[in-house]
Amino acid sequence: MAETCPTNSQTLEDDRLNRRMDRIGHKIVVLSGKGGVGKSTFAVNLAVSLSLSGRRVGLMDTDIHGPSIPTMLGLEESSIGGSEGEIEPVVVAGIKVVSIGFFTRNMDDAVIWRGPLKAGVIRQFMSDVAWGDLDYLIIDSPPGTGDEPLTVLQSLGTVDGAVIVTTPQKVSAVDVRRSVTFCRQLGVDVLGIVENMSGFACPKCGEVTGIFSSGGGRSIADDMGVPFLGSIPMDPAVVEACDQGRPFVYHYSKTATASAMQDILDRLAGRAASDTAVSAGGIE
Ligand code: ADP
Repeated sequence: MAETCPTNSQTLEDDRLNRRMDRIGHKIVVLSGKGGVGKSTFAVNLAVSLSLSGRRVGLMDTDIHGPSIPTMLGLEESSIGGSEGEIEPVVVAGIKVVSIGFFTRNMDDAVIWRGPLKAGVIRQFMSDVAWGDLDYLIIDSPPGTGDEPLTVLQSLGTVDGAVIVTTPQKVSAVDVRRSVTFCRQLGVDVLGIVENMSGFACPKCGEVTGIFSSGGGRSIADDMGVPFLGSIPMDPAVVEACDQGRPFVYHYSKTATASAMQDILDRLAGRAASDTAVSAGGIE
């Protein structure tokens, strides 16, 4: 039997990936310099907001080590289907969702894989998932500026750009600057910076009190010449919504925090729709 030439099989996979990604109108990558700043929360709410406005939306959770999207969408019991080498995404609220969390046997499982395997799975999410025709694909990237986010940005082909989520602390500011540089080195447009957990929204009256310093996100955005999309306060209702698998912008739409988030999401979708998409370049 003739052996499959590895170069040919790589080309076939690339072709499949490109054909799938070409059927998607807009791709927005959600990045952060570090974990725990609200990147997945933002990605989920962006997807929900776009879906509520009638767009066909997909949400790709490429955060292999901390896939929180299944929990945030109440999909902890979901598993993935499919046949003949094609993966069927889980559909919720009209959104097609894929996460490594759907493939692990239980939520406690840790994924202990080396780089090439992780890169392979990320690329498979692009090449083998039946995304179909979508208006928007939101990609929740692994945090940082290492191999995994690099695989995400380089494999996607044409993207509208990245939104970078950060928190007000100085340690996060350092990371967010690195994320901006990372995007620039790859030729990926930074659609904007979001400062999350900026002040504390009182659960009784909604008034926002500054508990840490704030404004760091805006000053980095100004300094680095990228748009500042806005601030979202720390609000216990966000945690409640995430933990219960109830998208915040929908279930808490009447709160001041949800309207702050919604303004940012609208601004971002507007920027993505009006910008020309670009392809990521390489890093030596
Ligand atoms: P990341 O994806 O950056 O690791 P997550 O989106 O998983 O971060 O959020 C980490 C935790 O912070 C979650 O429990 C989430 O509910 C909470 N969280 C995110 N944004 C806010 C906010 N504005 N107010 C309160 N809690 C938040």
